[in-house]
Amino acid sequence: MKIINTHAHLIEIEKVLQDGGQKYLSFLRDIPTFSAVEQVTAMLSVENLLQQMDEAGVEKSVLFAMYSPILFASNEFVAGICNQFPGRFTGFASVDIKNREAPDILEDAVKKLGLKGLKLHPPLQDFHPNDKAVWPIYEKARDLNIPVVFHVGTTPFGNLVKLSQANPVLLDEVANDFPDLTIILTHLGTLWHNESFMVTEKHTNVYIDTAAYPYEIKELLNENLIRRVGENKFIFGTDFPMPYEGKMHRIGDFVDCIKALDISGELKEMIFYVNFENLMKSRT
Ligand SMILES: [Zn+2]
Repeated sequence: MKIINTHAHLIEIEKVLQDGGQKYLSFLRDIPTFSAVEQVTAMLSVENLLQQMDEAGVEKSVLFAMYSPILFASNEFVAGICNQFPGRFTGFASVDIKNREAPDILEDAVKKLGLKGLKLHPPLQDFHPNDKAVWPIYEKARDLNIPVVFHVGTTPFGNLVKLSQANPVLLDEVANDFPDLTIILTHLGTLWHNESFMVTEKHTNVYIDTAAYPYEIKELLNENLIRRVGENKFIFGTDFPMPYEGKMHRIGDFVDCIKALDISGELKEMIFYVNFENLMKSRT
């Protein structure tokens, strides 16, 4: 079966460590799932990602740029990897929210670098996604006809981030004002599950990825929930290279988890690639 991993990161780790990211890194060491952070950073090579994709039968991954501490990856870095391995990656841009030029930078990332979406991480980028100051960025994304991925739910950076900025209900306001903007929530809500499903169910233009802990995927993703929220709404993702359940990241575990769900083969196909291909269809 064709599989697209719609949520993956490669990180410019040298820049993360240079630009004050050390304080985030040192914070992570105290958190059980991130205690193997040296191993995580060792995993941050495109060769390792490709090897995991091949092992798991994943044809393509969506790679996210990110202008934030710890996950830093520039648009140019992501575009370079996409160009180096044609057919294996789709790149999504990011922008520095505080930069007044952000809409123009996004336009360049799409038109000049060939990136196909926008990824934002409100707590790591320190903004509330329903802040009208961000509206020009959403307007640009809508005009460029690209989807916007929002991190929602918990995030493991202790007192360095604010959870209020990761409230999925804030995206309800964005979806109300931007009915023509495709919005993708992440991680089945990262413990903010029901509110994320509510927003996804309410809006035809809101989707959600499955880059959650496998036990959450098993407990949450049943046929009733999928049919209620929308069978076209769930897209497969893993959040490579983030550790989970105290283990190192292995894309194959997430693939096996979806394959083992007690849902129809047709729904599995929709999660693995059909829904994502449809939401990317007819975009330039
Ligand atoms: Zn992620």
